[in-house]
Amino acid sequence: MPLDISSLLDKQQHFFQTGRTLELSFRKERLSAVRHWILTHESRIMKALRADLNKSSHEAFVTEIGIVLEEIRTASRHLKKWSRPRKVPTPLTHMGSKSWIQPEPFGISLIIGPWNYPFQLIVAPLIGAIAAGNCVVLKPSEMAPHTSTLIRKMAEEIFDPAHVTVVEGGVKESEALLEQPFDSIFFTGSPAVGRIVMEAAAKRITPLTLELGGKSPVIVDRDAHLALAAKRIIWGKFINAGQTCIAPDYLVVHQDVREELVERMKAAIQELYGEEPLENPDYPRIIHERHFTRLSRFLEKGIILTGGGIDASAPAMEPTLLENVSWTDPVMEEEIFGPILPVLPFDDLDEVIRQIRRKPKPLALYCFTESKQTEDRILSALPFGGGCVNDTLMHFASPYLPFGGVGPSGMGRYHGKGSFDCFSHQKSILKQTTRFDFPFRYPTSKIGLKVL
Ligand code: NAD
Repeated sequence: MPLDISSLLDKQQHFFQTGRTLELSFRKERLSAVRHWILTHESRIMKALRADLNKSSHEAFVTEIGIVLEEIRTASRHLKKWSRPRKVPTPLTHMGSKSWIQPEPFGISLIIGPWNYPFQLIVAPLIGAIAAGNCVVLKPSEMAPHTSTLIRKMAEEIFDPAHVTVVEGGVKESEALLEQPFDSIFFTGSPAVGRIVMEAAAKRITPLTLELGGKSPVIVDRDAHLALAAKRIIWGKFINAGQTCIAPDYLVVHQDVREELVERMKAAIQELYGEEPLENPDYPRIIHERHFTRLSRFLEKGIILTGGGIDASAPAMEPTLLENVSWTDPVMEEEIFGPILPVLPFDDLDEVIRQIRRKPKPLALYCFTESKQTEDRILSALPFGGGCVNDTLMHFASPYLPFGGVGPSGMGRYHGKGSFDCFSHQKSILKQTTRFDFPFRYPTSKIGLKVL
């Protein structure tokens, strides 16, 4: 790598020590520079996403650019309030003193991103890191090279590298970065690499956020609004050809409504992607051969209800519904991360809850029901990062809902104020009075001992 990472970090350390990033006006101005660059270069971003994943302009805006712009808008609007020291009560035992919590930036933050939403999953955390007053090193995914290069160009065009810089590359570069003494690390990617990142962070006890993946279930009960359930599940599953960390991974549906839901889902696939999805110029492709081969193997077991067609040259795979799958088949063991939705019928919700509880805690969960009782039962019985009732994915796009996983699906949260907090240390301060002193705490105090 031509870049000398340790001298880059020295420059950022020096810049951070100047205190520039502590100035609110500086942070706001930098956020507005990112916003302005995005608005001016929207078509370049869309072109890069088209080249990397064949994302349509609509999908690029809704799932990448729009989310980042919303993050900038929220952070710019609330930055002053978020960064203010927050007064907290003082207990009677501390009479005379005042207490407050003062957010401060960690310092130099490393952000490593994946390929599936290659713009948004690097730039959205960047917004939080800048808003909180950090210097930042970004490492976009090498699997989405056009977007990675564009993010580097963006940084070169609008940032002093001593404040924000981009290191392009793959595993080797990532490993080299992880050896450096960063003040915080924010990683989005697979649970397997998340473990490697966590080990690297453990060496220096570096504050760490892990945004990982997992198998996110969708449960449709017999009383669900089936027309909407079908459309919202198909949208959430097949957007970006299923290569979405919070996509419904598999579907469990009450057997009484299975047939109707399947028919409605088939119709929704046609409505959203046409008769021949592989001919649809806006249907995203699978990121690389290895991933495509892994997905193709899932089709060897079970019955294909619709889809299953492939175009190995793209590579691409039709939106596929698969049934006759058991809880222990390979497709139910690992995160699918592609356009295949296994459909499992159930007749006892308690059994479904037991099955899901046996699996690692998922990043998301979706349930479709008109019954408040069923909703409460599912939400309280199952641990998961976040999710929706009667929808899919939409919780991700709210700046008021901190986003993250739990256990193997991740740790830490971001979006909206969550992003600011994610890149801040909350410093707790007690300011004691010098007008008087209570003797209770001192070992020489008889009164103190009596009180205790
Ligand atoms: P990945 O873990 O393979 O790669 C992510 C990043 O880590 C890339 O920048 C890559 O260069 C780097 N990397 C890869 N191997 C590494 C190693 N050995 N040491 C250090 N760095 C390494 O993930 P991916 O394939 O890009 O993305 C898919 C995964 O990401 C899925 O599991 C998905 O669920 C998850 N994901 C999670 C979220 C979320 O917000 N929670 C979002 C998108 C994707």
